[in-house]
Amino acid sequence: MEKHEIVIIGAGPGGLTAAKELAKKDRDVLLLERKPEDKIGEKVCGGGLPERVWKDVPSSLFKGVFTPIIHLGGIEATAQLLGMKVASVDRIDLGQYQLREAEKFGAEVRGNSPVSYVKLRQNKVICKGEEIGYDNLIVACGSNSRLLKRLGLRTYITIGYDYDIEEHFRDMEIFYDVEKIGIRYAWIFPHGDHASIGSGYIPRFGQKGINERKKIENFFKERGIDLKYAKKRSAPMNIAYNYFKRRNVYLIGDSASFLNPLTGEGIYQAMRSGEIAANAIIDKKYKYKKPIKDVYRHHQIVNPLLFAADFFSIKKLEPKRIQKMLGWLENSKYGHRALSRANYLLAKSLKIYPGFASFLYLSQLFAPTTLASWDTIKDYMDVLI
Ligand SMILES: Cc1cc2nc3c(=O)[nH]c(=O)nc-3n(C[C@H](O)[C@H](O)[C@H](O)COP(=O)(O)OP(=O)(O)OC[C@H]3O[C@@H](n4cnc5c(N)ncnc54)[C@H](O)[C@@H]3O)c2cc1C
Repeated sequence: MEKHEIVIIGAGPGGLTAAKELAKKDRDVLLLERKPEDKIGEKVCGGGLPERVWKDVPSSLFKGVFTPIIHLGGIEATAQLLGMKVASVDRIDLGQYQLREAEKFGAEVRGNSPVSYVKLRQNKVICKGEEIGYDNLIVACGSNSRLLKRLGLRTYITIGYDYDIEEHFRDMEIFYDVEKIGIRYAWIFPHGDHASIGSGYIPRFGQKGINERKKIENFFKERGIDLKYAKKRSAPMNIAYNYFKRRNVYLIGDSASFLNPLTGEGIYQAMRSGEIAANAIIDKKYKYKKPIKDVYRHHQIVNPLLFAADFFSIKKLEPKRIQKMLGWLENSKYGHRALSRANYLLAKSLKIYPGFASFLYLSQLFAPTTLASWDTIKDYMDVLI
């Protein structure tokens, strides 16, 4: 039977980073990826990279570097206020670059190799009917895998969707507009001669994907952008935290739900958790808990919401009731009117108290994400506090 010191499942930014770091230290590492090698990297994604990832990605891959313009309920604020800079990359370019890097240091990356099952007790994965043994396993198969369920892991899926449009945009823009697009945000991420325009939603609200897309299409139509002929894509995002390390198994990236549940940003978290997993395997004395907490600390807006939720004992409420209430706010005439009113008042107060009001505004948008997944939040609390 084939056997390796480390087997990694999935060649996303997380798996490829772990493979590279392990190979650098001459570890015997096999990465199994279900896609063919020339498609490694292809993924539905806005491709936005905040500054903290730039050291790991050559700037030649950047399609542009932007200071995003943030529209809060009709008020425009550049992200300079928040000190934010974001580069855009095409995911296929990033994936192919990371693949070359991992292979350069000696990692074996095997395309067309889906893992169908993991025998945790026997330390074996099943790939194309063959058993492959391991000493350590890194699960980096993203959000999109039945494998997570087969591993007995909880998943809580939200949906991200975008339109790949062949048009040049000068600015990177982010839109919050509760009245027009509901409790979510939308983006325009320029990639040179094309752009990703998108948003996301939580299916458990009883919202239908097609209606959500219509809202976004109409919103951009009003801004003179026709998305009718753009390429529509969507992908799940797992926000149910399970664990990082259990015995000789490490979960990284989306598989562990390290992506930010509020913004959907996950490339940095995948790469960083891949690096931490590699360090923990290389050096048994490596203290991984703190760096892993730091990956979570980037979920900055979650923390105050957690405390607020705890303070008001929202956790005692039934999640279903909360979802119903949120559905009502968005969809019924009176609910929508209340939401519009709150939106109007908050947008006005932004002019007077920009810092505090924008916190309230963002909380208003993000609270549902937090509340709808209370089980997840309880798990986050273990690592946050
Ligand atoms: C619409 C949308 C927009 C986004 N925009 C951004 C953004 O602008 N910036 C940002 O930072 N993040 C963004 N994200 C999140 C980001 O895409 C993910 O967080 C990131 O790709 C996670 O990396 P990963 O390595 O964990 O998993 P992935 O990138 O999903 O990679 C997992 C890999 O595992 C493979 N795989 C799955 N199952 C198996 C199996 N059984 N056997 C073998 N291989 C398998 C897959 O083929 C894939 O190659 C966005 C997500 C969505 C949905």
